[in-house]
Parts: sequence; C-alpha cells; structure tokens
Amino acid sequence: RAKADGKACYAIFDADMHHRAVAALDMESNLRRAIDRHEFVLYYQPVIALDSGRIAGFEALIRWPRGEYGIVSPAEFIPLAEETGLILAIGRWAIREACRQLREWQARNPGLADLTMGVNLSARQFSEESLVDQVADALAESGLGPSSLKLEITESVLMVNAQLALAKLGRLRAMGIRVSIDDFGTGYSSLSYLQRFPIDSLKIDQSFIHGMEATQEGTEIVRAILNLGQALRLEVIAEGTESLAQVDALRAMGCPYAQGYHFSRPVPPDVAAALLLSRRPA
Ligand code: C2E
Ligand code: MG
Ligand code: MG
Ligand code: MG
Repeated sequence: RAKADGKACYAIFDADMHHRAVAALDMESNLRRAIDRHEFVLYYQPVIALDSGRIAGFEALIRWPRGEYGIVSPAEFIPLAEETGLILAIGRWAIREACRQLREWQARNPGLADLTMGVNLSARQFSEESLVDQVADALAESGLGPSSLKLEITESVLMVNAQLALAKLGRLRAMGIRVSIDDFGTGYSSLSYLQRFPIDSLKIDQSFIHGMEATQEGTEIVRAILNLGQALRLEVIAEGTESLAQVDALRAMGCPYAQGYHFSRPVPPDVAAALLLSRRPA
C-alpha cells in the first residue's frame, strides 16, 4: 500500500518535472526566435541628481514585448538566457542599442553631453573574452564618448574571480568607461577589494532604501554606505526610491543621486526623450 502510494508520488513528480522541462525548452526556443526577430526593446529609467533635481543619466533596462502575453520583464527571462548562453547575444545587442540611443539624444541636444547611460552586465557577459571588444565596437559604431557609458556589475560577479575581474575592469577603465557596482550591499564583496577594484560608483540596493522607513537602523545602514562611498571617493546612487520621505532622508544625508518610481518608472525611448525635454531644458 505504502509502496503503491510512493509510486503514484513519483508519477506526479515525473509529470511535473517533464512539464517544467518542456516549458523551459519552449521558452528557450522562444528566446532564440526573439533574438532572430529583434524583438527586444530597452526601457530607460532616469537617474536624478538630488541637488538640482536634474536628470544626470539613465539606466537601460531590457523588455520583451510579446503581443498577447504583454511585456515580459527581465526577471522572467534573464535567468534562462544566462543558463543557456543566449544572454551573450541579447546582452551584446543591449550594449550597442543603449550606446546608439544616448548618442542620438546627445546629437539632437548638445546640452546633454554629460548625460550617462548605465548598462547591466550579467555574470556570463562579464566573463566573456570578447566583452572589452564588444564595448569598444559599440562606442566606435555609435560615436558615444566612453565616459558616457557606465557598466553595472554586481558584487557577486566581481568576487567569483576577483583577480580576473580586476584585470578586466582595468581594461575597461583604461578605455575611459565607467563602472558601477549594482545592488550594492546584497553581495559579499570584501572591503579590501572595494578599494582595489577600479570602480566609479555604488548603487545602493533598493532593499536598503525601502528599509529606511521601517527602523532607525535602516537609515543608519544607508548612511554607512554613503560614508563608505565618500571615503573611497565613489559616486553613490540610491536605487528603488519610491517616496518623497525617502528622497528627503537621502538628500539630508548628502546622497548625490537617486533612481526609482518616485521620479519615474523605466519608460520607452520616446517617453524618456520627452522627460529629457521637460526636466532638462537645453
Ligand atoms: P537592476 O539592474 O538592479 O535594475 C533595477 C530594477 O529595479 C529594475 O527592474 C527596475 O525596473 C526596478 N526598479 C526601479 N525603480 C524601482 C522602484 O522604485 N521600486 C521597485 N520596486 N523597483 C524599481 P527590471 O527592469 O525588472 O530589471 C531587473 C534586473 O534585470 C536588473 O536589475 C538587471 O539585473 C537585469 N537586467 C535588466 N536589463 C538588462 C540587460 O540589458 N542586460 C542584463 N544582463 N541584465 C539586465
Ligand atoms: Mg542595474
Ligand atoms: Mg540594482
Ligand atoms: Mg538587480
């Protein structure tokens, strides 16, 4: 009797695993097709300079519009893309497209010369041999100045192989590109590496910004990261800023930059261009 139950359990488990495997395969071939058909788009979220309220730059965030399914967010396909290696093709496109777009805005408005563009890199992209060449090509092709591009990399990606990361960051930095540590505080980077890595900015993970409201300790953690950034001469950006109370608290602590729904959600290129016109007159 027990044995029979066990067997039934296995059967259900098998069916479920089968279902998931089929779904993943299905998703993988959909992703491949989306690459071939150039279906991905970039949305842009403004980064605000808290002293002036002006747009200092944007972060490019990928989206996959799928007709009747709506717009698929990266959380739903980046992990599979990373696992299958498809992220390399998708990511290469994202770097080129983000550079092209910023250059287009700058060409229309010379007042935007100091605007920056953040582009996210996954672990696999960062370790790919051709990354430095890809970035160089994207800059050459678009005509974008290297200091306008900010590559966003998480602590965990850097710490997997710190020696290799150090060398690669050095090459990117030598080209004049800027580097941000994304989701800062959620990984496990050692402070000594933080000092040794040639990086330009820390993006405080949104969980810490949301935590400011709950407790005084939450605010003190953000203050500590701001102090760390100042001590290491790094630019600091608060991610996931959703309320005026958070903005006020951040400004009072001297946080230079913030990004989040309070200012704007990630928006399509035409809306981003309109934001630039209204929040950053020529
Ligand atoms: P991330 O780089 O840490 O991006 C921040 C995420 O927080 C974005 O989610 C953004 O839409 C969301 N966000 C911004 N402001 C707020 C806010 O005020 N509240 C809340 N709750 N969320 C906010 P999204 O667009 O879904 O992207 C998720 C992740 O996917 C990104 O995290 C990044 O790691 C990855 N990603 C996005 N685009 C690309 C890409 O082109 N290449 C690669 N390799 N990864 C990408
Ligand atoms: Mg990011
Ligand atoms: Mg982040
Ligand atoms: Mg993230």
